[in-house]
Amino acid sequence: MPARMSDTSLALLTTDPLAILQQVFGYPAFRGDQAAIVDHVVRSGDALVLMPTGGGKSLCYQIPAIARHRGGQGVAVVVSPLIALMHDQVGALEEAGVHAAFLNSSLSAEDAQRIEREMMGGRLVMLYAAPERLTTPRMLAQLDSLHERGLLSLFAIDEAHCVSQWGHDFREDYLALNVLHERYADVPRIALTATADDLTRADIIARLQLEDARLFVSSFDRPNIRYAIVEKDNARAQLLRFVQDEHAGDAGIVYCQSRKKVDETASWLSGEGVAALPYHAGLDAAVRRRHQDRFLREDGLVMVATVAFGMGIDKPDVRFVAHLDLPKNIEGYYQETGRAGRDGLPANAWMTYGLADVVNQRRMIDDSPAGEEFKRGQVGKLEALLALAEAHDCRRVRLLAYFGEASTACGNCDNCLRPPATWNATEAARMALSCIYRFHQAAAANNRGARSFGAGHLIDVLRGKTTDKTAQHGHQQLSTFGIGAAYSEAQWRAVLRQLIALGHLRTEGDYNTLELTDSARNVLRGEVQLLLREANASDTAPASRSRRGSKSSSSRETAKDKPPPQPLDEAATARYADLKAWRAEVAREHNLPAYVVFHDATLAEMARAAPATLAELGGISGVGGKKLEAYGDDILRVLRSG
Ligand code: ADP
Ligand code: ZN
Repeated sequence: MPARMSDTSLALLTTDPLAILQQVFGYPAFRGDQAAIVDHVVRSGDALVLMPTGGGKSLCYQIPAIARHRGGQGVAVVVSPLIALMHDQVGALEEAGVHAAFLNSSLSAEDAQRIEREMMGGRLVMLYAAPERLTTPRMLAQLDSLHERGLLSLFAIDEAHCVSQWGHDFREDYLALNVLHERYADVPRIALTATADDLTRADIIARLQLEDARLFVSSFDRPNIRYAIVEKDNARAQLLRFVQDEHAGDAGIVYCQSRKKVDETASWLSGEGVAALPYHAGLDAAVRRRHQDRFLREDGLVMVATVAFGMGIDKPDVRFVAHLDLPKNIEGYYQETGRAGRDGLPANAWMTYGLADVVNQRRMIDDSPAGEEFKRGQVGKLEALLALAEAHDCRRVRLLAYFGEASTACGNCDNCLRPPATWNATEAARMALSCIYRFHQAAAANNRGARSFGAGHLIDVLRGKTTDKTAQHGHQQLSTFGIGAAYSEAQWRAVLRQLIALGHLRTEGDYNTLELTDSARNVLRGEVQLLLREANASDTAPASRSRRGSKSSSSRETAKDKPPPQPLDEAATARYADLKAWRAEVAREHNLPAYVVFHDATLAEMARAAPATLAELGGISGVGGKKLEAYGDDILRVLRSG
């Protein structure tokens, strides 16, 4: 890796964090807790940082690393679980003029030796390595030597939840990281994660021996992400419409539960003209790598993936995250959706879900070999997620409340923008439950035949639809046959979903037959009120007061409708296109993703402001000193020639 900066330019840098933020990264101000965190770590404090995905964790250790690289010496060691992503992270730092490198198995022997020399000389500002590398005897001996000479400036442990077995990404190798504290107790450590769960947090503290570290918990709100959850009708068609209407040409991620569905959805989307790639653990490592690379480097690709994809992906311009299947729980949902809109520009989190999702998730828990206590925990988490999906009030308030944060209606979720109509489903719920009860009675009276049935048959009976099955089981004679004809099939599905979600019904056996639980009695007695979203409200409800009465009264309002602060006029749009073309060339030359050169938001600002001098250009957010020096003249030329 070429060192694209001279050591002298770093030596010139100040150790003042704000000045580093402005001069190196080109950003005017710290966000949220960043300033306090940086200040604490620069002063040798240990820190545990909980910040949502896209919150800006990287700068929390990068700036201290630069500030503690005094007199051109001092190495910060960054522990990162993903070898595949180190290249781009280091590339981004070098672009900003910070001497950084990674050590991993992808390097040639010569490159590795050269980097080790840079490290041992203390000239590297940051060294990225995976935990398994860090804890090898060779590496520890090198760290010992650096430490003895006072050249270990900092340890940053990224994705720190990997140390916890409670988290969802547990890595054995992370456990060995406590050696850092034992061996180098005087070197400050900062551990960072986006996982908010209390249990995981306590585990991180214990396992990394961070008892004395200062805890920084940021707000988990991601205000630029618009949340929407729609009822599953025809999931593929709904997805396609969402992508085509709102995100044509945008980069996005579509999550599916199974590998098979990932493959099918990706090839189907491609057939429909949406550039899409599959990603799951069943694919060859080389294919996975290639698809990930293309997603990061090319503009506007859609990645269809299982949850195997996403950790450490810091592509800032992912404009949407779509869920075709229900995630496991709210933590998973929030982490996955958080991959949208890291650049702070409007982004969409969209999910479609239906009765089958609820049934599947519930079964996966029931059928798992885990202990009862664990299962109960899982059920509780699923119920919280279902409550979010069925909610008719602000989604964000519920999400944040789940993470222990109070807030008020956000104005940027589907329910805030178009308050769904609700209907009182208490009576319908009682009909459904008593119908199931009648099935049992009928079977007992006849002393033969099945006593339990699935949702499809139940709905047929409630709606009074004659089928072979209703005839065969004598269900046309039941008092409940046809009592629910006034409700649509979709309404019935919503009722059953809710009853399962609330635990008044459960599913059983290979056919997912419906069974009453003990608490069903409370519903039958009328002690439980059920208020439901109008079925398919998201697609059929008239646009209400929410939107400014414009043409976009359609249901499918998403973040795209929200104009950026100042839309680009025609000339600026042309300049923006020119700048993008220029950036693509630079990115190719440097073998880096385009966003590492400049973010979209920075290019848009350049196009809008059309600076004529280097000084003006340097004032734009995202243009640091090194980039101004390296690209300033070229950019001004592109802007002039456009
Ligand atoms: P995280 O690691 O927490 O998911 P990142 O560190 O990748 O988030 O930061 C998300 C994005 O926000 C990045 O593109 C980063 O450049 C940008 N960013 C972070 N801090 C600031 C800031 N103070 N001002 C402007 N942009 C910032
Ligand atoms: Zn809201």
